[in-house]
Amino acid sequence: MIKMIDLDLTRKRVLIRADLNVPVENGTITSTTRIEAILPTLKIALDQDAAIILMSHLGRPKEGEIDPKFSLQPVAACLSKYLGRPVPLVTEHSNVNVKPGEIVLLENTRFLKGEKNNAPSLSKQLANLCDIFVMDAFATAHRKEASTYGVAEYAPFACAGPLIVSELEALGHVLREPERPLVAVVGGSKVSTKLAILNEILTQVDCLIVGGGIANTFLAAAGLPVGSSLYEHDLIPDAQAMLSFAKAHHKQIPLPEDVLVATEFSAGAKAVVKKVEDVAHNEMILDVGPKTANHIKQIIEKAGTVIWNGPLGVFEFENFGEGTRVLSEAIARSEAFSVAGGGDTLAAIEKYDVADEISYISTGGGAFLELLEGKTLPAIDILEKRSAI
Ligand code: AMP
Repeated sequence: MIKMIDLDLTRKRVLIRADLNVPVENGTITSTTRIEAILPTLKIALDQDAAIILMSHLGRPKEGEIDPKFSLQPVAACLSKYLGRPVPLVTEHSNVNVKPGEIVLLENTRFLKGEKNNAPSLSKQLANLCDIFVMDAFATAHRKEASTYGVAEYAPFACAGPLIVSELEALGHVLREPERPLVAVVGGSKVSTKLAILNEILTQVDCLIVGGGIANTFLAAAGLPVGSSLYEHDLIPDAQAMLSFAKAHHKQIPLPEDVLVATEFSAGAKAVVKKVEDVAHNEMILDVGPKTANHIKQIIEKAGTVIWNGPLGVFEFENFGEGTRVLSEAIARSEAFSVAGGGDTLAAIEKYDVADEISYISTGGGAFLELLEGKTLPAIDILEKRSAI
């Protein structure tokens, strides 16, 4: 790949695809990690007097429709504060005026028709805005979209930004020569999207700790009652196959022994500790119990490498954050080389204030896991192809 740091950006129109998909609640950004991560890239370009056009998606608006709820306006305001200069938000993607030494932010790329299916017309339109395209959104590198892939095909130059380069280097270390035991923690709610990835990760790790909705599916696969918990019935056979594979290959998938349940999904719901075999039909599993948390802590203490994506429970609710807190503190205290990533994982890292003690925090979620799985990420692939021309 051509790297941005090897190019002369002086007075060039530089289009940077960043990942500014930050959580926004009522117009307020609740985690600025992704914005802070892109600042070094922007400073390198600004120091060279580049004319910067920054773009990103935010949330999942309906394509082709402008929905103020998903506007990047709060991000523009936040960037402006960090950079100490105006960062206007441009809503008209075909008409972008930016002078050397200035920076503008394009409105949510997902408002544009053709973004998702990588339409050549939109890709060309974006490519026409710049002399150099910089891909620096690792978290969307697994998506073949107009702003991540197509634009790189048509831009005069396409290169990798510093953030993507450092992500690939850190994750390469974990993939090539991990200290053993290698422990992966995969939690969160997206059972169906993560199960395929879990399958692959299982072939590499010594121990796979499952959490959240994923753990619920595994509990159901083991024949345990999950009441009205979030789980995916259709994926039970997959989970069963993984449990059998682990057994046959002397790998561990420790299932929770105890859990925290509630009868309603709300911030004020009362948490009750239950043994996994005692979960009633009207109860939802919303976190691991204290025994399980302690067991996970012990596994992390003995690990050589830890890969972490996804919370162990609904940590946004105070009563159901204990499992994720114990896990994050165990990873922070551990001697293991630790890599953590994924939207909600970043929020948990911030909440439990462990960022400084984790060896490498990736800004990617799905991309992070797909890379660990050994897949070629489309956005990286096109950068490699472009560098060969
Ligand atoms: P993901 O985006 O797939 O990593 O999922 C993260 C989300 O999963 C967080 O918002 C958690 O609240 C949620 N989550 C974790 N555990 C559970 C659970 N047991 N039941 C429902 N949601 C959960």
